[in-house]
Amino acid sequence: MNKEDILRYIADNKILPDKNFGQNFLCDEDIIDTIVELSGASSGSKVIEIGPGCGALTDRFVAMGTRITAVEIDKRLNEHLKTRFEGEDIDIICSDYLKLKDYEESSFEYAVSNIPYYVMTPIMIKLMTDLTSCKKMTFMVEEAAISRIMAQPGSKQYGPLAVMCSCFGKVSKELIVPRAAFIPPPHTTSAVITLTRKEGIPGTGFASFLEKCFSQRRKKLTNSFPELKPLITSMGLRDDIRAEAVTPEEYRDIFINYTSSLI
Ligand code: SAM
Repeated sequence: MNKEDILRYIADNKILPDKNFGQNFLCDEDIIDTIVELSGASSGSKVIEIGPGCGALTDRFVAMGTRITAVEIDKRLNEHLKTRFEGEDIDIICSDYLKLKDYEESSFEYAVSNIPYYVMTPIMIKLMTDLTSCKKMTFMVEEAAISRIMAQPGSKQYGPLAVMCSCFGKVSKELIVPRAAFIPPPHTTSAVITLTRKEGIPGTGFASFLEKCFSQRRKKLTNSFPELKPLITSMGLRDDIRAEAVTPEEYRDIFINYTSSLI
């Protein structure tokens, strides 16, 4: 869908973009093509898209012959998507993705989202946690968020999101996307990133475990999580190590050992 298509779609269907849902619709066909190419999906692939909006990306995945599930929070857009894709191999779910349960999450091979920026972190964390067989995730994010997504231990931006992404696999910044590629333009430049699975997330409780570890990021890890003290020392780490200094690999090992000690 180019700029004219989106403007016509919005006018014909009387859809005023809703800022509360982070609605900035992609209207640059070259960027749409690049995202679809980067996604790694091909005919027959099982794909999940969060926030299809007017269907600019969805359209391409349907045309390509993927088996796509599209989760959209906005009821107005859901109605139009259902009419538009009637008879196609697509499952359109009207829901807040953050509340979605039992959606065959382990079956998806690829995830794609022009992420509503106001909920970027919880959406990425839920996708990485739920999609246990996902090979690759492709996201449009605010460019400024990349420093958080790719943050290194010891830096100010380092936190649960960076640890999760690094544990999931290889994180790559693929391209910068100008504001003009959207209707309406967002307040800042965007970027497309990909996460290609290596190890994956070590278990469903990993995100909340990390939240607890980082609750006092500059203090000793054992301040916020005293139960970890014997484990950390047995793993050869200093028991006064600060939460922000523990590497993603160390967090993975601590989590695996900690959860198996609870059984
Ligand atoms: N994919 C479309 C595109 O590229 O033009 C729309 C992208 S727009 C930035 C984000 C979309 O996510 C909107 O359609 C919005 O309604 C939807 N959305 C926002 N919050 C959501 C949530 N919690 N669950 C599912 N969809 C959501």
